[in-house]
Amino acid sequence: MRKICVIGAGYVGLTTATCFADLGHQVTCVDVDVPRIDRLRAGEMPIYEPGLEEMVRRNAQAGRLHFTSQYDDGVPDAEFVFIAVGTPQGGGGEADLKYVRAAARSIANAMHGPLIVVNKSTVPIGTGDWVADIIRRYQPQPIGFSVVSNPEFLREGSAINDFIYPDRIVLGSLDPEAAAQVAQLYLSLRAPIVITDLRTAEMIKYASNAFLAARVSFINEIANICEALGADVKEVAVGMGYDKRIGPYFLDAGVGFGGSCFPKDVAALAHMAAVHGCHPQLLRAVMDINRDQRRQALYKVRELLGTLDEKVIGILGLAFKPNTDDMREAPSIEIVHLLQSEGAQVRAYDPVAMANAGRYLHDVTLCRDAYEVADGADALIVVTEWNEFKHLSLSRLKQAMRQPIVVDGRNIYDPSEMEALGFIYRGVGRGYVS
Ligand code: NAD
Repeated sequence: MRKICVIGAGYVGLTTATCFADLGHQVTCVDVDVPRIDRLRAGEMPIYEPGLEEMVRRNAQAGRLHFTSQYDDGVPDAEFVFIAVGTPQGGGGEADLKYVRAAARSIANAMHGPLIVVNKSTVPIGTGDWVADIIRRYQPQPIGFSVVSNPEFLREGSAINDFIYPDRIVLGSLDPEAAAQVAQLYLSLRAPIVITDLRTAEMIKYASNAFLAARVSFINEIANICEALGADVKEVAVGMGYDKRIGPYFLDAGVGFGGSCFPKDVAALAHMAAVHGCHPQLLRAVMDINRDQRRQALYKVRELLGTLDEKVIGILGLAFKPNTDDMREAPSIEIVHLLQSEGAQVRAYDPVAMANAGRYLHDVTLCRDAYEVADGADALIVVTEWNEFKHLSLSRLKQAMRQPIVVDGRNIYDPSEMEALGFIYRGVGRGYVS
C-alpha cells in the first residue's frame, strides 16, 4: 500500500484516484472546486462515467479514498502526487497551463517531505522541467522531489476499463529511480511499461492524439471523395481495416472529432511546432478537414430543404461521443450554432448530456427522447452515435416528422433500409447504395 495524492477530480483525476484506491492504495483526491468535493463526499458523481459511482462508493466506504479541497489534507503524507488538472486551449491554440502552475505552487507550499510529482495532465513538451522549477521556487524550504511524466490515455465512457487494461504505461523522467517507483504502482496491471525521458513522454501523448485525429480526418476526406465518386466509405473502411498495417480503429467517417482532448491537443502541438520554427502542415490539414466536416451536415440539410429559415431541425445526440456527458468541443455545438444562424429552430435530445447542454446551447428546445425531437421536424441530424439511436422505431420517427429527412452524421443507419422506409437519407461518404 502506497500513499497517493491526486490533484484534480475531473475525468482523469477522479478515475485515477478511484482506480489506485481499488488497487489497494491509500488515496486522497484534491480539487479546488469546493461544490464538486462536497458532492463527491455525499456520494454524488460530478461527471457521468460508467461504473465510477459504485467504485467510488466502495473505496470511500473502505476508507481508502478521501476527497478534500485542501492540499494540506493530501500532500504532506503523500509519497506520490499526481497532477490531473485541466490544460484547456488558450487563445492562440497553445495549451493554457494556469491550472498546472497553480497546482505546482500549491504542492510546493504543502509538501513536508520528499515525494514524487507525477504529471498526468497533457502538457506541452518541457512542462515537466518547468513544474520542477516552480516547485523549487515556491518551496518554503528546500525538500527533495522528482518529477515524472505519466501521460494518460484513457477514454471517457470507458475510463475505468482503460485504466485497468491500458495498452501501455508511459513514464518519463530524468530520475530513473523515481520512474521505477511509479512503475511499481502499475505493475499489477501487467501492461507494457515504456520508460523514457520527460520530454519524450510528453511528446508520446501529443503524437498519439494527433495520429488518431489524423486518422479521423483522413477517413473523412476519403468519405467526401466517396460521395463525389459513388463509393461507400463504410465498406472502404472495412476493406482497409483488415490490413494489419492499417487496422480497423478510428476509421469511422462522420461529423468529425470533438471533445476535450483531440481538438486542443492537435492545436497545441501545431502551436508548439510553429513557435519552434517547424511547419506543421499535416496537423493544420487535420484541423481544417475537421472544421469543414461539421459544416457538411449543414450543407446537406440546406440542399434538401432549400432554406433553413423557420425550419425545425432535430438533433440526435449532443455529447462529443457516446457514453459520456462531456460536451466540450462537441460537434453538436457548432452544428446547432450554424443552423440557428440560418434561422432554423432547433430541437435536441441526448441520453446523458442534457444537464450540460444548457451551458453550451441557447434557444434550443431540449426534448425527453428522440421521438419528441422528431415531432414536427423538417429534418433530423444524427450527431452522436448512441446505441439508443440505433434501435429506434424508424417508422414511428418518420410518422412524427413533418418531412422525412435524415442526415446521418455518424452513419448509424443503413441507406437502403432508410430509403425503403421512405426517408430522404444522407449519410457521410455513402455514395453507392446497392
Ligand atoms: P477536467 O476538467 O474534467 O478536470 C480537471 C479538474 O481539475 C477540475 O475538477 C478542476 O476543478 C480541477 N482543478 C483545476 N485547477 C486545480 C488546482 N489548482 N488544484 C486542484 N484541482 C484543480 O479535466 P480532465 O478531462 O480530467 O483532463 C485533465 C487532463 O488530462 C487534461 O490535461 C487532459 O488533456 C488530460 N486528459 C484527459 C482525458 C479525457 O478523456 N478527459 C484523457 C487523457 C488525458
